[in-house]
Amino acid sequence: MTTYDGNRIFEGYALAKIVVYKKKEAVVRAAGQGADKEFERFEKAREETVEALNKSYNAALIKLGQKEAQLFETHKLLAEDLDFEDEVRANLEENVTAEYAVTAAGDALAAIFSAMEDPYMRARSADVKEVAERIVSFLKKETQGTVINEPSILVCEDLPSSELMKFDAKLVKGIVFTKGSSNSHVAILTRMLEIPALCGLDLKVDESLNNHFGIIDGTKADFIVDPDSKTITKYSKLKTEYEANKELLKRFIGKETLTQDGKKTKIYCNIASSFEVENALKNDAEGIGLFRSEFIYLESSDYPSEDEQFEHYKRVVEAMNGKEVIIRTLDIGADKKIDYFNLPDEENPALGWRSIRICKDRPDIFLTQLQALYRASAYGNLAIMVPMIISSSEIKFIHQMCEMAKENLASRGLPFNKDLRVGIMVETPAAAIMSDQFAKDVSFFSVGTNDLSQYTLAIDRVNPNLASSFNPHHKAILRLIKMSCENAHKAGIPIGICGELGRDPKLLPFFLKIGIDELSVSPTYVLSLREQISHINTAEVKVEDYID
Ligand code: PEP
Ligand code: MG
Repeated sequence: MTTYDGNRIFEGYALAKIVVYKKKEAVVRAAGQGADKEFERFEKAREETVEALNKSYNAALIKLGQKEAQLFETHKLLAEDLDFEDEVRANLEENVTAEYAVTAAGDALAAIFSAMEDPYMRARSADVKEVAERIVSFLKKETQGTVINEPSILVCEDLPSSELMKFDAKLVKGIVFTKGSSNSHVAILTRMLEIPALCGLDLKVDESLNNHFGIIDGTKADFIVDPDSKTITKYSKLKTEYEANKELLKRFIGKETLTQDGKKTKIYCNIASSFEVENALKNDAEGIGLFRSEFIYLESSDYPSEDEQFEHYKRVVEAMNGKEVIIRTLDIGADKKIDYFNLPDEENPALGWRSIRICKDRPDIFLTQLQALYRASAYGNLAIMVPMIISSSEIKFIHQMCEMAKENLASRGLPFNKDLRVGIMVETPAAAIMSDQFAKDVSFFSVGTNDLSQYTLAIDRVNPNLASSFNPHHKAILRLIKMSCENAHKAGIPIGICGELGRDPKLLPFFLKIGIDELSVSPTYVLSLREQISHINTAEVKVEDYID
């Protein structure tokens, strides 16, 4: 039995078999066994790929229908494409391995697709790369990715959010990230899915761990490998107690969120998919404060259409039945990369081409999303929120695009709420400092404390080496939040907090005292937050204690 300590991402206990996540190794240029021999290897791997794609096509056709299955058919056509084959053959003349020739051919064709005008053809770029990767997997005799088909604890160095979403979340009982950080998007997703998880452990991720038994102790932030029977019994008991405690909190369902001295506030939920709305309702959320819409894009292999997006947004507003639903527009870039967007590699991605900046340069994508949002507004209480704002000109651009979306829908005779509320995230120091001006032009603010902390402190939120210096309690951050709150209220608009700080027990009294109108947190925290708030007397809270 070995115990490793780490940092907590999400509390709770997990007891299950370990599955190690296999990261694909990069293909490097190396000498092969001659063009003919390497071409034979390529042909064999391509045959195996096509066979696997046929199987996936048939399975998807039965489970998901023609539309979803079509992707596998497209991949098959790309694998058999003659231009692709010619490119591989030409590369092999340089005496390289088939792995390298296929990867280089995939990259070259992907670059051609991504330069095309037509968005459909541009999106094929990611498909070509994926097909090339599949062929390389067969060449390297790698099994196809990591499979989870029974309750398991996933152990990895780090994991992109899009990879986590490929697993059946009900079977992922816990996650151990040996690297990573609790502020990354995959960590946030883990909390939203309520999966006990740790990061920053001194453990070597090795396939030999597969099938060993593991325990995650989310309270002490420990991971135990090969526990003895006494330890298993102890943790089974702790898990039962933890779950019973959660049951106890259910007495707060249906209650108003009130401080001890009778001040009312609202607790909303953060969700990443329209299906999570059930979880928000189960935990008695008073609204949705942040629907991270980029996860619709992350789950998709191509730009989601207006109709597809509309269905997701409509599902959430209808389920919330009149309660407010704040949907954030596309926030990709930085640690959220999507292949078919073909985002360039950047020196400083967190300071790079992301969110509203991409929407400004690719207004077609933004307009499609706005039209889907306006259409869904006819079915409930929807509000739009835009991330990463730093300037008035961006706000002006948003309003212009909203007008365009409304005109387009009106000309198509479709219903929408013409007075839809449009708000912005305060997650850059620029937005907080300019909040007096911005408050006059938008309907609400929501503070994104994750990014506001990263940009105020100039500390990368996902850098594990800086995790101990990433202090979101820093007075500079709290002063910026207070300033934004005062400016919002002066202009008569509400302000919420949708970053992770919104559930921080130490800061709750401060947020309530300065008058934050709404806290938006992962569904699992709603009831415990309501309970904590019921014990706070704002008359006893001194703001100076937090910021001076
Ligand atoms: C934030 O930055 O606080 C936020 C809520 O947005 P995200 O974590 O998705 O960047
Ligand atoms: Mg953010």
